[in-house]
Amino acid sequence: MIKTGEKHIRSLRDGRQVHLDGAVVGDVTTHPAYRNLVRSVGALYDFQARPDNRELMTFAPPDAGERANRIWQLPASHEDLVARRQALEAWTEPHAGFLGRAPDHVASCIAGMYMGLEVFEDHDPARAAALAEYYRHARDNELYLTYVIINPQADRSKPAHEQADAFLSAGVVDEDGEGLTIRGAKMLATGGIVANEVFVTCIQPLQEGDEKYAVSFAIPMNAPGLKILSRKSYEAHAPSVFDNPLANRFDENDALLYFDDVKVPWERVFINQDIAMCQAQFHATPAHVYQNYQAQVRLMVKMRFLLGLARRITDTNGVTGFPQVRETLGTLAAQCAMVDALVHAMEVKGGMRGDYYIPDRHTLYAAQVLTQQLYPQIVTSLRALAGGGLIMLPSSVADFADPEMRALIGKTQQSPACDSESRVKLFRLAWDAIGSEFASRHTQYEMFYAGADFVTKGHSFRCFDWDRCTGLVDRMLDSYSLEEELARLREAPGSGPEADRQERKAP
Ligand SMILES: Cc1cc2nc3c(=O)[nH]c(=O)nc-3n(C[C@H](O)[C@H](O)[C@H](O)COP(=O)(O)OP(=O)(O)OC[C@H]3O[C@@H](n4cnc5c(N)ncnc54)[C@H](O)[C@@H]3O)c2cc1C
Repeated sequence: MIKTGEKHIRSLRDGRQVHLDGAVVGDVTTHPAYRNLVRSVGALYDFQARPDNRELMTFAPPDAGERANRIWQLPASHEDLVARRQALEAWTEPHAGFLGRAPDHVASCIAGMYMGLEVFEDHDPARAAALAEYYRHARDNELYLTYVIINPQADRSKPAHEQADAFLSAGVVDEDGEGLTIRGAKMLATGGIVANEVFVTCIQPLQEGDEKYAVSFAIPMNAPGLKILSRKSYEAHAPSVFDNPLANRFDENDALLYFDDVKVPWERVFINQDIAMCQAQFHATPAHVYQNYQAQVRLMVKMRFLLGLARRITDTNGVTGFPQVRETLGTLAAQCAMVDALVHAMEVKGGMRGDYYIPDRHTLYAAQVLTQQLYPQIVTSLRALAGGGLIMLPSSVADFADPEMRALIGKTQQSPACDSESRVKLFRLAWDAIGSEFASRHTQYEMFYAGADFVTKGHSFRCFDWDRCTGLVDRMLDSYSLEEELARLREAPGSGPEADRQERKAP
């Protein structure tokens, strides 16, 4: 059975310990801080379960009786990758890319690890078997996974083991026949409050002495001892969908996780205290490429949405015909096309790795570097196009309930393209996308979800085909030499610098 929204929502009533505003949240599916998000995620599962979406959204795994969501598909060809991407694209459209960690993100990571299973097998067959079993378990039970792969900020100039508290970062505090016991914190479980399980590891480079933090495992979000420290809920502060159409429904939340001596059974441990393997799980397998390729597919959809907003804003203000406005729109269109082209280039330039087809690694890193810089620019361009219209708005939807105010809104909110209600509706949406607290968090997200820019630039530096470029320079340099040039001068004494000098000396 393909998972439905109702089934997913039911699975979240599991006693998880979410801490918000000084209290423990009982049921996240009904709490005003999360309930609309829960419904939005439920709607994604209903979308995949629709019979007319069967081919688009699901595939038949060779080793399972039931079809599964394509987010778990292991592409064996370019065609497979494109079919998988079409599912990701379709699944992103309902939230226009505002759910950064919808279920397709971490599924892409785990699928990528599975595609590189031999890396785990070479390291430790028991841990490899645990990972393989987990991939199948998560796929067949359609688990929504989040991940925490970064140690909390404290003193970034020191390694994890030299922080003031040795268990600030989550690490192994005990190990026995049943498994590991984990103590400490990890940042940031985006979507964690509405996910089923969390994948926990460390993608940051660790140093000698950091071994206890070099683990990789998965546990349910209701695991005993797991404390989910929610950030402020924007949804709770956005009770009207008309006033905050995005924060009201797509505030995916980001939570700090604290592991208060959480027990992890061996069958869910993929790496135990091995620093090199923590890097290898992402970079020697296709995991890092697949998780971030998904992120670029999502961004491609979000860019289209933001372009749509830009165009609606200029039409609403009657400024689309101005040459300067067309230039801005033209630039935005080019930037949107660049993101689209990079996704397609990753696919076309991809290649086989064993049995699987992998998007092109460097094109992915190029996209990450460029889009981290691009996103705040796009937001600034939209702000510039919109002007004070983003602020010249009724205080809230309640103003429409007062007949006198409604009449005044009708008088003051005017447009050559639409009525006053539609104008307010559009600008409210635009503000939530580019100006509100929800929007501001999105800019932070797009700038940091894949690491700070020195990290993504480092990947781009390391993976680029420098030899091809320096080869061109070398070929050019090899096409002439100093000795040949001097010989040429010697053969033609009447020309060249010496002759020049003689000529200049002559009276
Ligand atoms: C909205 C949001 C959602 C997130 N969701 C998730 C999630 O779901 N799962 C997850 O695991 N993580 C998540 N993260 C965390 C994210 O992965 C980290 O923010 C990211 O890796 C950057 O790490 P950091 O925030 O600790 O920044 P830092 O690494 O501390 O960097 C901050 C700045 O400090 C400077 N700096 C720090 N170290 C260096 C250095 N070595 N060299 C040079 N300059 C340096 C740079 O100026 C850098 O920009 C999320 C983050 C955000 C903002």
